[in-house]
Amino acid sequence: MMIGVWILGDQLSVKQAALQSCGHQDNVPVILIESLRHIQVRPYHQQKLVLVWSAMRHFAQELRQLKYSVTYKMADSLSGVARDFETALQEWIKANRITELRVMMPNDRPFTQMIQNLELPCQITLIPNNHFLWSTEEFNNWASCRKRLLMEDFYREGRRRLQILMEENKPIGGQWNLDQENRQPPKGKLNTPPAQWFEPDEITLDVIAKVNSLSCQTYGEVAPFRWGVNRQQALQVLDWFIQHRLADFGPYQDAMVTGEETMWHALLSPYLNIGLLQPLEVIQAAEAAYKEHQLPLNSVEGFIRQVLGWREYMHGIYYYVEAEYSDKNWFNHTQPLPEFFWTGKTKMNCLHQVITQVQRTGYAHHIQRLMVLSNFALIAGISPQSVENWFHAAFIDGYDWVMQTNVIGMGLFADGGVLASKPYAASANYINKMSDYCKGCVYNHKERIGQNACPFNFFYWNFLDQHREKLQSQGRMSFILKHLDKMPPEELQSIRQQAQDWHGDLQLSSGK
Ligand SMILES: Cc1cc2nc3c(=O)[nH]c(=O)nc-3n(C[C@H](O)[C@H](O)[C@H](O)COP(=O)(O)OP(=O)(O)OC[C@H]3O[C@@H](n4cnc5c(N)ncnc54)[C@H](O)[C@@H]3O)c2cc1C
Ligand code: SF4
Repeated sequence: MMIGVWILGDQLSVKQAALQSCGHQDNVPVILIESLRHIQVRPYHQQKLVLVWSAMRHFAQELRQLKYSVTYKMADSLSGVARDFETALQEWIKANRITELRVMMPNDRPFTQMIQNLELPCQITLIPNNHFLWSTEEFNNWASCRKRLLMEDFYREGRRRLQILMEENKPIGGQWNLDQENRQPPKGKLNTPPAQWFEPDEITLDVIAKVNSLSCQTYGEVAPFRWGVNRQQALQVLDWFIQHRLADFGPYQDAMVTGEETMWHALLSPYLNIGLLQPLEVIQAAEAAYKEHQLPLNSVEGFIRQVLGWREYMHGIYYYVEAEYSDKNWFNHTQPLPEFFWTGKTKMNCLHQVITQVQRTGYAHHIQRLMVLSNFALIAGISPQSVENWFHAAFIDGYDWVMQTNVIGMGLFADGGVLASKPYAASANYINKMSDYCKGCVYNHKERIGQNACPFNFFYWNFLDQHREKLQSQGRMSFILKHLDKMPPEELQSIRQQAQDWHGDLQLSSGK
């Protein structure tokens, strides 16, 4: 019997389950496949292609040093994604006389399905995924006996289960959630810390050359490429975050400032999502900083909630809901995605700033994603599936499991409230409070109608008006709907008209 291991591009850890299942023997055959067809599903950000391919090539080197017998295939079959992988695997299986192919269960459902349909001359065994703290079975057990799927309940369960920031089964400091001390608007000159970036090495430069020569459609700019591409660099980013950013992570977590691309954020999702870092080591590093260096609890708890709470919850929900979740469209929104999402050419300064930042880096922080990008898509009635496709293409850390829940669920409320307790819909008021974007904008954040009115305003009120009935049943929205009831009918009529005209104009020109 000969066992071989296929390692996917987001499973780059020596502790991953399929490798671990082979014990510590030398010369275990391992294959990694760089597929050109796979990247043509959508126009991916060029820096994401560089990150994943360079990290795969670095990981192959690391495995060779550990005495695995590594095959690194560049696949480019002419007849589709599955064929790309199938052909490469068939050749390798025959050459190495492999009788059992082991793969760690993919994070993404479509990829699992593709593997199950492959025609290979040996048995395929999917080994349970060990890159999350909660297995699918454990999450389903937690979820299936609950009336409500609140993230906050799940997070507390995670704290108890792993004994993180706990003191005799009670939360350290007496409170589970210290968010009231966070979420401050940006004030005055903020002294933001630099981020930990890297110069590309030879391997990365080769991949950059390959990406530059691609003939298929891609998105964004490839240079300057500054992301880490191996475990050692990912650990350096974690260490840098703990030393220079974590202490002040909390207070300005939701703030947005022109020219400040990363604020105090961790920049860890690209590494966590491809296996270069494991969630528990990230959480434990933050907890140790609190205990050993007395870092402020509001920042440490706020950060741990992101990784132990939100990240695990999103992954758990992805597998808990039916596969058709990706088609959900509770509001029946059908507007096409405006062209400016691809070009960044819009007069709306907040969107212009965030989209051009994504083009340059593949990155935006949580509030830029939620309250600028997806908020606009939600209130402007854009089709959820086209928005999901854009996020998936544009972000360096985008994968199916994290897209469906964050974009379809959290950002667009297209699941009708499975995940969020109310839609994250806001007018310009929120963006003006939490950023400096409105100061440099041609639109007026205070106006709801008229030539200078901010589109976030008329779209917001139009959204509430159009979906009044559905929103009424979302308990927390009824207070906001009362404001709509007080609006003079002529103003409401103008708002409806302006929203409609705006969409009409957008079909003709993309400069709005
Ligand atoms: C519309 C939308 C799209 C998003 N797309 C992605 C995506 O493609 N990939 C992705 O990893 N995250 C996504 N997120 C979640 C979150 O915005 C990013 O994880 C975070 O901005 C990554 O940057 P950071 O590492 O600097 O995060 P920090 O703000 O420093 O947070 C720390 C870590 O917590 C985790 N985390 C926090 N919130 C979430 C969440 N909701 N889902 C998953 N992980 C979370 C991430 O691993 C992150 O690295 C999205 C959120 C929204 C609202
Ligand atoms: S005025 Fe409106 S469009 Fe302009 S930056 Fe503010 S919220 Fe964005």
